[in-house]
Amino acid sequence: MGACYECTMTETDWMLINKRKSCALLTHEQISEGKIPTTPTSSSVIAGIQVQEMLKLLHSDRGLPTLAGKGFVFNGLTHDSYVVEYQEKPDCMSHETYENIEERAWSAHTMTLSELIGEVKADLGENAVVDFDRDIARIARCSCGASKDLYKPVHKLKAGDIACPDCGKSMQFESFHTISGNEDFLDRTLYDTGIPLLHIICGRVGMNTKYYELSADAAEVFDTLDLA
Ligand SMILES: [Zn+2]
Ligand SMILES: [Zn+2]
Repeated sequence: MGACYECTMTETDWMLINKRKSCALLTHEQISEGKIPTTPTSSSVIAGIQVQEMLKLLHSDRGLPTLAGKGFVFNGLTHDSYVVEYQEKPDCMSHETYENIEERAWSAHTMTLSELIGEVKADLGENAVVDFDRDIARIARCSCGASKDLYKPVHKLKAGDIACPDCGKSMQFESFHTISGNEDFLDRTLYDTGIPLLHIICGRVGMNTKYYELSADAAEVFDTLDLA
């Protein structure tokens, strides 16, 4: 497919993203207030182009030219637009694909973390661990001594989630993205830990990985998509 968005990112871009992480919480708040970092008209123009590209990709058997690996720059002030070429970065981490995904009759709603790690160990051996593709905030602690359970993906945390219920100060939180079976919070369901329905779960022994799909959620997910 050629270069992806991440291939185009420079060291400086990464630095900016890492800096922004500290105020990402604020950004989430602002987004929930309806503030968005673009205009509806610009995003509609770009969305139209994106749909056009998607249709071409879906009909790839016709050999239509696409923007894959390229960039489309649109200037809303003058309505100029042009296409730029991007180079594929050989060490880009975004080209990794999940191979050999196994469908399992597991549901994020009902399966507990303990059942999950049990199944993965039964399949891959006692040394297996489960890696999640997200950091999950577990507990927040305040310097005043108060603490609060979170169990929410870090990227979904809002400022209110880590505000101390006693003194109102911003609390420090602990997060995890791997479970090995010794944790003391494994009686929670995957869903209540911030794992979405129909998600892909990674089981790992050392450097070897295997992927499992929470296939029992398929009906619910695709039912929700059915708008008829
Ligand atoms: Zn890339
Ligand atoms: Zn406090």
